[in-house]
Amino acid sequence: MPQIYKYLFGPVPSRRLGRSLGVDLTPFKTCTLDCVFCQLGCTTHKTFARKEYVPVKDVKSELSRWVKGGGKTDYITLSGSGEPTLHSRFGEVLRFIRERTPFPSVLLSNGTLFWQPAVRKSACQANIVKLSLSAWDQFAFKHVNRPHPDLKFSQIVDGYRAFRDEFQGKLWIEVFLLWGMNSVRCDVEKIAKLAKTIRADEIHLNTAVRPPAEKFAVPVPRKQMEAVAGLFRPRAKMIVEFSANKSVDIAANEITIRAMVQRRPCTAHQIADVFGMHLNEVAKYLGMLTRTGTVQIQKKDHETYYVG
Ligand code: SF4
Repeated sequence: MPQIYKYLFGPVPSRRLGRSLGVDLTPFKTCTLDCVFCQLGCTTHKTFARKEYVPVKDVKSELSRWVKGGGKTDYITLSGSGEPTLHSRFGEVLRFIRERTPFPSVLLSNGTLFWQPAVRKSACQANIVKLSLSAWDQFAFKHVNRPHPDLKFSQIVDGYRAFRDEFQGKLWIEVFLLWGMNSVRCDVEKIAKLAKTIRADEIHLNTAVRPPAEKFAVPVPRKQMEAVAGLFRPRAKMIVEFSANKSVDIAANEITIRAMVQRRPCTAHQIADVFGMHLNEVAKYLGMLTRTGTVQIQKKDHETYYVG
């Protein structure tokens, strides 16, 4: 995609969705949480103030232009640099996708605002909604997701249950497991027990295989993930990319990024700037390159550098 879009990125290959065109509705790292595993780094603007962070008319106009230009994707996904439901008009964008494009829509949300009826009503416009659940009480929530101090875990989970009653589309729950933080069997049992009350269509297990915000966010080995998948109803699916995907697009981007970091160490931001890519896309490719040992991570002056 030529670099004429400010709010669209990709389509990027996605294990869950095939190919997904991203729509970014918030400024970088504007989020209700500061998850220790976040692939975008630490949250710089922690808030739960909902407003029109980016102009909806410009987002709609980019989507129209992309569709008219013959754009092809499997899904159009609200995701990106922060929490999409913080955008006060995200429901309007979902409705626009439904009415004015031939593609189904996905909302990837951390779910923390679903206790608000207006957020749930807007989210009902999506074909698929993914919500996060990586804790079982307020203490665990603080430990793993470092929420805005006014957010209450029990209120959020009540919001999930209410949403299930209201939403006709597919509801997915993503459980992000971290070694030593929420992955021992008795903790996963508590998450699974809560997840059951939400009656999701699918449960997805993930772990920190992409460079995380904090060094102590350590991935859980595949074997252990598989051992706890059966605790969930329905049985959890592994969506974690333990090995590199070999699709042609990915290979092309991996080669260019690798060639760049072989010349000089770069941060993810620098790579994104040079190639005009969204940071989410860069994180995906860096995850694959670091997992295969093709690229190494070096920390310097609180920055993470990638070295070929
Ligand atoms: S992982 Fe998602 S919810 Fe958590 S801090 Fe990053 S952007 Fe926010």
